[in-house]
Amino acid sequence: MGSVAAEKPHAVCVPYPAQGHMNPVLKLAKVLHAQGFYITFVLTEFNYRRLVRSQGPEAVRGLADFRFASIPDGLPYSDEDATQNVPDLCESTMKNCLGPFLGLLAKLNEETSSGAPPVSCIVSDGVMSFTLDAARELGIPEILFWTCSACGFLAYLHYQQLVDRGLVPFKDEAEFNNGFLDTEVDWIPGLRKGIRLKDLPTFARVMDLNDKMFNFVLREVGRVSMASALVLNTIDALEVPALTALQKILPSVNTIGPLSALVRSTIPSDSPLAPISTSLWKEDSTCLNWLDGKEPQSVVYVNFGSITIMSNEHLVEFAWGLANSGYAFLWVIRPDLVKGESAVLPPEFLEEIKERGMMISWCAQEELLFHPAVGVFLTHSGWNSTLESLTAGVPMICWPFFAEQQTNCLYSCTDWGVGMEIDNNVKRVEVEGLIREMMAGEKGRAMRVKAAEWKESAAKAISPLGSSLVNLEKVIREPSDMLS
Ligand code: UDP
Repeated sequence: MGSVAAEKPHAVCVPYPAQGHMNPVLKLAKVLHAQGFYITFVLTEFNYRRLVRSQGPEAVRGLADFRFASIPDGLPYSDEDATQNVPDLCESTMKNCLGPFLGLLAKLNEETSSGAPPVSCIVSDGVMSFTLDAARELGIPEILFWTCSACGFLAYLHYQQLVDRGLVPFKDEAEFNNGFLDTEVDWIPGLRKGIRLKDLPTFARVMDLNDKMFNFVLREVGRVSMASALVLNTIDALEVPALTALQKILPSVNTIGPLSALVRSTIPSDSPLAPISTSLWKEDSTCLNWLDGKEPQSVVYVNFGSITIMSNEHLVEFAWGLANSGYAFLWVIRPDLVKGESAVLPPEFLEEIKERGMMISWCAQEELLFHPAVGVFLTHSGWNSTLESLTAGVPMICWPFFAEQQTNCLYSCTDWGVGMEIDNNVKRVEVEGLIREMMAGEKGRAMRVKAAEWKESAAKAISPLGSSLVNLEKVIREPSDMLS
């Protein structure tokens, strides 16, 4: 009786269905697998189809003890390869996913005769908090994983206070546009002095308290204490004040990052687990060969992640800024990066950069950031991108789009000493100037040194006695600290 798999603890891992959530949750799932867990990784049917399309059917085949499963997200059927509408998806998963998820858990527990162990815990994205109801119903622990920075998460936790203090909702467009966002928010312990409303996660910029995203965040942060433990993909050294403040609010907050580095150090490249990926777009690997031919730290890498959209005017400003800087660049232009249309770049630009510019639609970002030719990362300051850049020791030029990217940008450009911000209404001269400064100026040099220091801190955090590894082992052993 009982195969080896049947004796393992069984973790059901549930990311929010977007690229920037699936990647870190997959990494955590891999690390747990390496620690002896049987894994069921739950996708939405929409993303399951996308993965199969981008990588072929083997992408979801899994291993004997690392399985993929899917549940509907509650939105109408679609086989698009584009980013789903964020507020609609949040509302839909919140309202519609609990039933199918409970059904899946029941099915998994019925299947134990086939060698799979019974479900012993849930590891869920913080913004898929319906999973907490399922954990309660089954009487099993749940580890909640908020995939943002600690400073971003701390800000989300104070959304209700923005209302209580009369800062939100904004009165009207005029208030929104006339400097109100510059109001200092000096009452959130753990956030840096001088932080302004505009630096807080953007979902609070509402004129109506019924706003979908604002309400969604309020609900999700309000449920954190139902979890057995909370984990964050960050490192202690990076976010001391925010983490200290969080630990006063929540009893079990654990840093376990950078997960990308943890995966690299615990999963050998020839492990059958290594190729498992949640990349929703097909990666273009020719760019790595292209980079091989470039001098160390000579290339500007540009990527705005999986959700950012911009106008074609802004795209053109970035294009000329890159061209006029004179540096070689690798620019990832997602097929749905430009609002409502496809990206149109001027023919003169394409002619001008043909010797030193490469443009592709998706890449293996982590691998690319570790390439010695990369000198700076022009990023939207998404948390995964920021942490991946710090882990690789690459300084950043930041153009935040939404969510807590504004907060990450502020910290990158101040406390962490690795970033320079581009104005929201981007102009080519600014892009050109910041690239030149970052690549060859004094400030850029200082930021490169600082980024190299963070790279070391990241490596230290995941070393055998490092904070993140110690925390992870603790969470796995005793995931019941927060249960009342
Ligand atoms: N990513 C990638 N290739 C790309 C663009 C992004 O592999 O061409 C990955 C990136 O490494 C990161 C995630 O997608 O892990 C994006 O997450 P992030 O939090 O930076 O931004 P989001 O896409 O959620 O806005």
